[in-house]
Amino acid sequence: GLADRLQNTIQKIRGKGKVTEADVKEMMREVRLALLEADVNFKVVKDFVKRVSERAIGQEVMKSLTPGQQVIKVVQEELTALMGGEQSKIAVAKRPPTVIMMVGLQGAGKTTTTGKLANLLRKKHNRKPMLVAADIYRPAAIKQLETLGKQLNMPVFSLGDQVSPVEIAKQAIERAKEEHHDYVLIDTAGRLHIDEELMDELVQVKEIAKPDEIFLVVDAMTGQDAVNVASSFNDLLGLTGVVLTKLDGDTRGGAALSVKAVTNTPIKYVGLGEKLDAIEAFHPERMASRILGMGDVLTLIEKAQSSVDEEKAKELEQKFRSASFTFDDFLDQLGQVRKMGPLDEILGMLPGANKMKGLKNVQVDDKQISHVEAIIQSMTKDEKIHPETINASRKKRIAKGSGRTVQEVNRLLKQFEDMKKMMKQMTSMSKGKKKGMKFP
Ligand code: GDP
Ligand code: MG
Repeated sequence: GLADRLQNTIQKIRGKGKVTEADVKEMMREVRLALLEADVNFKVVKDFVKRVSERAIGQEVMKSLTPGQQVIKVVQEELTALMGGEQSKIAVAKRPPTVIMMVGLQGAGKTTTTGKLANLLRKKHNRKPMLVAADIYRPAAIKQLETLGKQLNMPVFSLGDQVSPVEIAKQAIERAKEEHHDYVLIDTAGRLHIDEELMDELVQVKEIAKPDEIFLVVDAMTGQDAVNVASSFNDLLGLTGVVLTKLDGDTRGGAALSVKAVTNTPIKYVGLGEKLDAIEAFHPERMASRILGMGDVLTLIEKAQSSVDEEKAKELEQKFRSASFTFDDFLDQLGQVRKMGPLDEILGMLPGANKMKGLKNVQVDDKQISHVEAIIQSMTKDEKIHPETINASRKKRIAKGSGRTVQEVNRLLKQFEDMKKMMKQMTSMSKGKKKGMKFP
């Protein structure tokens, strides 16, 4: 995938004490191919490579003490910029309710995302949303939203399928005012392709509902098609944001990188699964880090904070940042991680996880975690803090004590070491960035 290719490329340049123009050129060739292969828009790739090359060959990088890392920093910053720089916030109407209109093609995930977003608004922002069933064409669409409403214990406004979506929207907003709902989420109909009839109707709903946000829901798996769809909807409706769904699937990542550049509309949320909590606010910087394999520590910390007590999460963050955590912390973390959600998802966010051979492409199950725990528990106190002292005979002892093989012990030690290395790099990079922000 895109992440793998980019990571291989930057790995080559990372440790270099001297970076020549030829190095940069070669790197850019590979970056360009990786992006094209990921289905990023051709023009976007061209501009991106041009910008990165100019900066990378410039004085700031070549004359610096760590040119390899500086180049990576440039790539990361430009990737972030490509996806829209700062994260955008969701609108709040001066006079409630805030109206959000969900639009998109059939099957993109509008109805599901309407439920997810309402759930998020209530859980994270303490809001009181109402859902509106304005897809009167798809036979089971109203029922689907009502089922979601029941699951969430949230009101769904519906007038059946004989009343026009425009009228439904109008009455729904009146009702929301009466019942003091502060957000109204209108789930509209989609078609298989963009057609005039659909667009006319959406324009009419827009005129009546005067939405504060119009979110286009697009399927990330459709790559550049998603971007073309976004362009068309934006021309006709004026979008305020894009929700990119199905990022949990086997996507090539191209849509995430092209949407903003092509349509000038930011991605605001991403869908990461079918469940109602599988949605996240989109953070361009985090996404860029994730793509470059620097680990999504911030998202991890956010997850930790919602399932682990805050004190522990802060400690964890501190340790991540100072790269000073030991096998004891690791063990502690494994226990916490079980509470956070699917393990492979969590581990994928750890810095360097992509580089850990044992983890990549392996279904991480609880049994494996138990094995890891057993190995760590067989280490002495001192070994957990100074794993570099674990020699061959100690490895044998640990393997025996945990009922695992020496190879497994080796693998864990290697993974731990890789992880620490990545953390160190990450910390020095973020220090560099802070400086850069002070003196741009
Ligand atoms: P709509 O036609 O645009 O309203 O699409 P739906 O909300 O009915 O979703 C279509 C299908 O995509 C359903 O099976 C959803 O469960 C699924 N889906 C929606 N969002 C996601 C997501 O982020 N990840 C995955 N894996 N599936 C999703
Ligand atoms: Mg639907």
